[in-house]
Amino acid sequence: MPTKLLQIGLLAPQPGQKQFGAPEFSVEGRPYRLPMWVVNGSTDGPTLVVTGGVHAAEYASIAAALELGRSLDPNTLRGRAIVVPVVNLPAFPARSIYVCPLDGRNLNRVFPGDPNGSASEQIAAWVFRHVIAQADYYVDLHGGDLIEALVPFTIFFRSGHDRVDQVSLEMAKAFGIPYLVSSETPGSTFSAATRAGIPSILTESGGQGIWTREDVALHTNGLDRLMRHLNMIPGQAPAPVPCTLLERFLWLRSEHEGFWYPAVAVGERVAIGQDLGRVTDCEGHVLQTAVSPADGHVLFIVSSLAINRTDPLLAVGA
Ligand SMILES: [Zn+2]
Repeated sequence: MPTKLLQIGLLAPQPGQKQFGAPEFSVEGRPYRLPMWVVNGSTDGPTLVVTGGVHAAEYASIAAALELGRSLDPNTLRGRAIVVPVVNLPAFPARSIYVCPLDGRNLNRVFPGDPNGSASEQIAAWVFRHVIAQADYYVDLHGGDLIEALVPFTIFFRSGHDRVDQVSLEMAKAFGIPYLVSSETPGSTFSAATRAGIPSILTESGGQGIWTREDVALHTNGLDRLMRHLNMIPGQAPAPVPCTLLERFLWLRSEHEGFWYPAVAVGERVAIGQDLGRVTDCEGHVLQTAVSPADGHVLFIVSSLAINRTDPLLAVGA
């Protein structure tokens, strides 16, 4: 019999049961009902937490979280799972890029949140305390946003806590996406969780509002591989995938409002000093040249012609 059972609000499945529901909490005094699956397996094991839709227009990741929640079999699950397909609920119908429409903030920059802060900070605080903090292992599913193209990659954070960092790296390898990036994004889900001692990864697949079968499958196959790696579901440990480990995640941002002309493609190998693209004004005068800060690989590119000051342009993994 399991020694520990998950309960979130009124969701309290028995061992060998899965429940779907939407626990309610308050955000800026209004009810916020967050749909999720809570699964208590029939035998004891670890707790896996999977979130999607922290960025609510990264559809391949949301489609994958929905598939996982719908398909998880509580009878064969060893351990426990929580699956939240769309954390940033108001941003989903709004098709909002990057931010939560309630306060205009990027939810993946405010974790572990603040119960007395702005709407995004309040959402993050509840999700961190009631969902993510339950995890022995945590996966946050992402992808390129509506205006981002990317080559799939998995991010983990070296927090300085050796055991946690080692397990995060093993999770990233088990997930099976070939590019692995070591990075801290302050205020992100996985950085906050890693700091709290929970081995965590953030996976990126899909983008530009498109969610092909292949994009979704990278996430769902990765979750299947990870759960076999953790011995949470039946099946053999996954075969290792050759991977490229990138120790730096270098973002370039626009210094101007204008028109963005990338000169490279996602996945392309680039050299330090290479011209990666230009921001121009209406007449074509170059306002800014994006110069590669290192030898590496282009991991994502903003595909929007319209660019705002401080917007990301692209990122190089080195
Ligand atoms: Zn994202």
